[in-house]
Amino acid sequence: MLPKLLTQIFGSRNERLLKGYRRVVQQINALEPKFEALDDEALRAKTAEFKARVAQGESLDALLPEAFAVVREGSKRALKMRHFDVQLIGGMVLHAGKVAEMRTGEGKTLMGTLPVYLNALTGKGVHLVTVNDYLAKRDAEWMAQLYNFLGLSVGINLPNMPREQKQAAYAADVTYGTNNEYGFDYLRDNMVHDVADRVQRPLAYAIVDEVDSILIDEARTPLIISGQADDQTDVYLAINQVAPRLKKQIGELDPRTGEGVIEPGDFTVDEKSHQIYLTEDGHDNAERLLAEAGLLPEGASLYDAANISLMHHLYAALRAHHIYHRDQHYVVQNGEVTIVDEFTGRLMTGRRWSDGLHQAVEAKEGVAVQSENQTLASITFQNYFRMYGKLGGMTGTADTEAYEFQEIYGLETVVIPPNRPTQRRDELDLVYKTNKEKFEAVVRDIRDCHERGQPVLVGTTSIENSELISALLNKEKLPHQVLNAKQHAKEAEIVAQAGRPGVITIATNMAGRGTDIVLGGNVENQVKVIEADASLPDSVKAERIAKLKSEWAGLHEAVKAQGGLRIIATERHESRRIDNQLRGRSGRQGDPGSSRFYLSLDDQLMRIFAGDRVRAIMDRLKMPEGEAIEAGIVTRSIESAQRKVEGRNFDIRKQLLEYDDVSNDQRKVIYQQRNDILEADSLVEQITNLRASSLTDVVRTFVPAESLEEQWDLASLERVLRDEWQLEVPLKALVEKSDAITDEEIVEAVVKAGDASFNDKIARVGIEQLTPFMRMVLLQSIDQHWREHLASLDYLRQGIHLRGYAQKNPKQEYKREAFELFSQLLDVVKMEVTRTLLNVRIQSQEEADRAAQAMEARADQVSNVTYTHPNEDGSVSQDPADGFDVSKYGHVGRNDPCPCGSGKKFKACHGKLS
Ligand code: ADP
Repeated sequence: MLPKLLTQIFGSRNERLLKGYRRVVQQINALEPKFEALDDEALRAKTAEFKARVAQGESLDALLPEAFAVVREGSKRALKMRHFDVQLIGGMVLHAGKVAEMRTGEGKTLMGTLPVYLNALTGKGVHLVTVNDYLAKRDAEWMAQLYNFLGLSVGINLPNMPREQKQAAYAADVTYGTNNEYGFDYLRDNMVHDVADRVQRPLAYAIVDEVDSILIDEARTPLIISGQADDQTDVYLAINQVAPRLKKQIGELDPRTGEGVIEPGDFTVDEKSHQIYLTEDGHDNAERLLAEAGLLPEGASLYDAANISLMHHLYAALRAHHIYHRDQHYVVQNGEVTIVDEFTGRLMTGRRWSDGLHQAVEAKEGVAVQSENQTLASITFQNYFRMYGKLGGMTGTADTEAYEFQEIYGLETVVIPPNRPTQRRDELDLVYKTNKEKFEAVVRDIRDCHERGQPVLVGTTSIENSELISALLNKEKLPHQVLNAKQHAKEAEIVAQAGRPGVITIATNMAGRGTDIVLGGNVENQVKVIEADASLPDSVKAERIAKLKSEWAGLHEAVKAQGGLRIIATERHESRRIDNQLRGRSGRQGDPGSSRFYLSLDDQLMRIFAGDRVRAIMDRLKMPEGEAIEAGIVTRSIESAQRKVEGRNFDIRKQLLEYDDVSNDQRKVIYQQRNDILEADSLVEQITNLRASSLTDVVRTFVPAESLEEQWDLASLERVLRDEWQLEVPLKALVEKSDAITDEEIVEAVVKAGDASFNDKIARVGIEQLTPFMRMVLLQSIDQHWREHLASLDYLRQGIHLRGYAQKNPKQEYKREAFELFSQLLDVVKMEVTRTLLNVRIQSQEEADRAAQAMEARADQVSNVTYTHPNEDGSVSQDPADGFDVSKYGHVGRNDPCPCGSGKKFKACHGKLS
């Protein structure tokens, strides 16, 4: 009781916030006469003036009243709409980086122009985020009239646009686009090899329309870019013939004398690190064998820049043949190579070794060499949108999710009052015992509306249900239209007319989103057609438009008299918010309207959560067949069931995020490094640091820190430096020469030798010529290992719940191991880059150019790149449906749901054999 009392005395936080905003509204209103007096030119000049003031340090908050007043004045002239006071309030909420809950039909599109204009004055770009391409285009084109009038540029960002167009769209003051496309652009920008290929600017401010839909409904799965690495089966098979012909060296070298080889061979094996090193002889032999196999041009060297990948393949094949053994490290089952966990002996189904090793083992075992589908990049919406400097959101239904917005995104929700009081009547739920009775009642209600001339929108939670009702209405000969959110543009047209007298529309909750249902239908389009008809004289136009409008007024009044738009729902959704969205389609801008949910004990939600209780009530009341129960207590117990489901779903999203946070931190590190590499003029310092660190690690395996000379294995170190790093460092001679040499000095000598070797290359080729090659070596190593790392994380996540049984906290375990894997990744990149750059033989500028180009070409050899945002069940969200391109979705099983979102099986839809 107490909290309620306190609220009454002090006012809720929402009311207090609104009070503050209303004071600013008064300031804006007071400015109106001043700006009304300006002519168009003078009004537009305000934009330049504001920009200059912002550049000089004036804060946006200080500028807000004037800027909002200018936008309102501009809108009056360009759009013939004057922002309502509540829209000004909503605009302030968005500018403050909060979520504005504003009811459907109250004008969020126009509201958005206020904070967009204000924030665009900084020149940093504002992103407007919509749920589909159709809405992005429609809203952008509509509002561009206002922005352009005030001198701001507008860009539209659509999928499949050429790079230049995307860059232009992002360079505009305001950019409209979908959440998916912004996210994919971000990922793609972090896959480029050249700064000039990036399309986005730094992420400054985004306003997310239908924010609940995007940040909550769609946030349970990440955006994924995947593709197939280039198919190199032939190379694996050919090299597989070469590897067995090279001979292992037998015998250990004596650390002191360097003697002791029993039988010289082509390579040595380091069992501990699972590595193989070619000896000098081995190198020559390998080159000869590869040349014979036609893999290496006659006279070419394995050290040539062009052959870096061949070297890689050779090492993988040697490891496959000499280190990895069947039934110990792996088993061969059903034509596949499956890894055996070293420690537990468990089969790691689905897991693959990286670096081409798995393919090399497949070639060795004579099973199919798989070029698997790889995740190239991925991100969740949560983590994408959290990167913006400021984020605002708008929707008709946020209040039920206010806690999540606050918790996950740090966004506060402010409920904006309607411009005119709502008149919609939300009736209590009617609960029937069976589905059959429920649907009979639904049809009765629909028929009643239709016959009286009241438009009705029948909402369903699934396409199946829509089709079921459609079949029932067909049987009753009731004319109707069905919308399944497959064709956004066409459905928007239909929804716009769903308010005509007696029209029956069946729609899933996704269909026709963002389009407003006007009582009596929408005549705007017809008016536009008449206005655009050049063959008509103005007087005829005016006459026709007047006629149209008066007809519309008649229809509008007739529909109002019948109670406005009737919403009939056939099921409760898991989430109250979705139910509210449906209700919200009626009763716009103070129109009359009504809504009713028809339920039965057969509904899933009822069965699982509320059924027993409601059934007990029904039994107690001894309800006869066909009768429904209608009581507040029932509606309340259903709502509490929904609350339970919402809570569970929130936990799922939070879990996903907690796991994604780990890879998110790592992604940020990798992308930052990539960007540094892309943007740096010189990479010498980075490379030098990597090399120093790599060579130190090498030395430390043979000369431990703070060790005594007796413990050093200088012979092996010299050999490894020579075989693996192409460095001749006479360490033994060095030690013999001086009487007190420390392990630090050994490190120093080796690092110096590395520097000398590399400086020699630079001297020969020129730093400018070598830089693009160095850049590609770095990028390619980072990219390749990052992709493999993503697969490892995936695998780790899938298996981590098993740790729960061993009394371990899975999340902690995941974090720990993910960190471990990531440091390994950084180590591997460091070593690989250093090794490549020390080994590579580049003699001339042309060679450097060719090598860089070859590497870039190889990096681009990813085929079947697909962009997906899978649903939780693994199916794929639909894209704008017209011209649906199923090939974008990679492999779809015949019995999987069709990726177009039709709800049908793939084989019965886009997968139909023609
Ligand atoms: P929402 O996105 O909030 O559901 P819309 O932005 O689609 O609503 O706007 C609903 C309708 O209200 C549109 O037809 C629009 O033209 C109209 N509208 C919005 N704001 C105003 C205004 N200030 N004056 C007149 N009409 C408005």
